[in-house]
Amino acid sequence: MEQEFISKGKCLFCEGMFSQDEIGKHLAKHLVEMTKDDAGKSHENYCHVEAVANELFLQLLVRGDASMRIIDQFLRDIWLECCGHLSNFGHKNYKISMKDRVEEIFQPRIKIYHDYDYGTTTRVFLRAHKQYQLHLEEKIILLSRNEPLKLMCTSCKKNPAVNICTVCWYKDYAFYCEKCSEEHAATCEDFTDYAKMPVVNSPRMGECGYEGGSIDIERDGAYKAV
Ligand SMILES: [Zn+2]
Ligand SMILES: [Zn+2]
Ligand SMILES: [Zn+2]
Ligand SMILES: [Zn+2]
Repeated sequence: MEQEFISKGKCLFCEGMFSQDEIGKHLAKHLVEMTKDDAGKSHENYCHVEAVANELFLQLLVRGDASMRIIDQFLRDIWLECCGHLSNFGHKNYKISMKDRVEEIFQPRIKIYHDYDYGTTTRVFLRAHKQYQLHLEEKIILLSRNEPLKLMCTSCKKNPAVNICTVCWYKDYAFYCEKCSEEHAATCEDFTDYAKMPVVNSPRMGECGYEGGSIDIERDGAYKAV
C-alpha cells in the first residue's frame, strides 16, 4: 500500500494516546499498579495478550482459566465475522484447541496465530505479554485498540476514504471518499453491483461480505479528520 500509516491507540486507564510500539509497555505499568491495589482481595490469573495484523492491533486482558474460544469470539465480534466461517488457532510446533485454557497457551513471549475463514483467510497474530493476579468482574477486557488509520481517497487525495472497490483495488488502490465513490460508480459497473464495501478498522476490510464489527463500533469505520 502506498499510504503510510501511523498506528496509535488510547489507553483504557488514563486515556493517553500511544504508538503501536509503546502501548503494550505502557499498559503493563497500569496492570502492575492494579495488582498492588488488589492485594489482599481474592484474585484470578489474567493474561495480557496483543493481537496484531500489520498496523492494526488490539490489547487484551483475558482471564487465565477461560478457554481460547473467548478470544476467538472476541476477534469475530470486533474484527472478523461476516458469515460464520470456520476458524482456528495455530502455532508452528503444536496444536491449539478452542478448549485450551488461555493461561496455558499464553506463556510469556509465545506467539500464535488465528485464522478466520479457510477460503479467503484473514490471519491475525497473537502474542503473550505478562500474566497478572487481579480482582476483576470481566473475563475479557479491551485495553486499547488502534484508532482508525488515516486512509485517504486515492482519487482526490483530499478526503478520508469511506468505500473501497474490491474489484479495482488489486490494480490501483481503489479507496474512495463519498464524492469520488459516485464518480467511480459511473465508470465501474461492479462497484454498483457488489464491489462497493465500506472502509472499516479491521484486517478483514474488503474480504467476503465483511462490513464492520459488532462491538466497539465508535472506533470502527473510516478515519475522521480532527
Ligand atoms: Zn495509561
Ligand atoms: Zn464471509
Ligand atoms: Zn475523493
Ligand atoms: Zn471499481
